[in-house]
Amino acid sequence: MKRRSLLQGLALLPAAPLLASQAPRSLAAAPAAASVVPLDKPHSAWRELLSAEAYAVLFEEDTERPGSSPLNQEKRAGTYLCAACYLPLFDSRHKYESGTGWPSFTQPIEGHTAFSRDFKLIFPRTEYHCARCGGHQGHMFDDGPPPRGERWCNNGVALHFIPQGETPPALRS
Ligand SMILES: [Zn+2]
Repeated sequence: MKRRSLLQGLALLPAAPLLASQAPRSLAAAPAAASVVPLDKPHSAWRELLSAEAYAVLFEEDTERPGSSPLNQEKRAGTYLCAACYLPLFDSRHKYESGTGWPSFTQPIEGHTAFSRDFKLIFPRTEYHCARCGGHQGHMFDDGPPPRGERWCNNGVALHFIPQGETPPALRS
């Protein structure tokens, strides 16, 4: 009985910092600043470094066609970086098949993403972006698998996968 209630308590833990992070973008940047220093770079300056598709998703908040990303099939161990600034955002251990047609994760690398709210579909969705360059990555929903119950639905074109054992590129500024 005691073990069960402890586990239930642990399952509730991630919810608290998450709610605190759902502040407007300017406020959410503050907690992440301890490990990630936000870049002071205009979004338009990324255009020449990215494909047209990646730029549209990252800096014009476009959404890629479901099922279009090769990363849907990526099963190797490794790290998923922001395709713009190369900040590591997700670990392959947290990737799962959500059946949505977009690469999906149960959690991000702590402190490397930040939230804002978007009302494009009338009801509010939790948009998240790279905490360093501000590039839009995807949306977080609360219908994911336990224990966190989170589904981080990411545009594959906004990510850059580095298999385990390969040296990641240096951060881009
Ligand atoms: Zn970035």
